[in-house]
Amino acid sequence: MTIKVDQNKCIGCGRCTEICPDTFKLSTAGKSEVIGQNKDCAMKAADQCPVEAIFVDE
Ligand code: SF4
Repeated sequence: MTIKVDQNKCIGCGRCTEICPDTFKLSTAGKSEVIGQNKDCAMKAADQCPVEAIFVDE
């Protein structure tokens, strides 16, 4: 299982980091980076990402 954020799509809105602070963190570049592997939460965040930049693979 892999959680990924497309760095080219991410606009750094911070929604995923609010929903899953244990799994996403805004980098110094203002993009979301993956810091954990909470799949259930990541899928919720993927649904809420305005630019569909989050991918969760089985
Ligand atoms: S919700 Fe999407 S656009 Fe917003 S910070 Fe997370 S990955 Fe980036």
